[in-house]
Amino acid sequence: MAEQTIFDKVLSGEIPSTSVYEDDAVYAFNDINPQAPVHVLVIPRTRFESVADLADASPDAIGAFMRGVALTARKLGLEEAGYRVVFNTGADAQQSVAYLHAHILAGRKLGWPPG
Ligand code: AMP
Repeated sequence: MAEQTIFDKVLSGEIPSTSVYEDDAVYAFNDINPQAPVHVLVIPRTRFESVADLADASPDAIGAFMRGVALTARKLGLEEAGYRVVFNTGADAQQSVAYLHAHILAGRKLGWPPG
């Protein structure tokens, strides 16, 4: 079995987090080092290491995860002003936790392109 990541421990409650949304498929919580006024991470309850793993996942699992991302943003009231969803994937993107997570960033005008 793969080694436990920080986000496995967040999901189990071993590491405390501030929940902002959850359902059967996802758990969403505030990022500990926010890069925008709103910075939330959304993780699937079943672990994938990164977006790359979704190539082999069922459309149902992918759909439930992405729906959870959109529902998190809806619950946070972000639909009107807008928000950004980021999936850092692999070394060049500086993914630091090997547990699939969507960053939801919002609350200010976000620059483009990202660094
Ligand atoms: P990434 O660099 O895309 O892998 O993003 C990992 C994110 O996890 C970073 O934005 C960190 O600030 C965040 N993070 C790390 N540990 C925790 C934690 N215990 N609770 C909440 N966010 C965390």
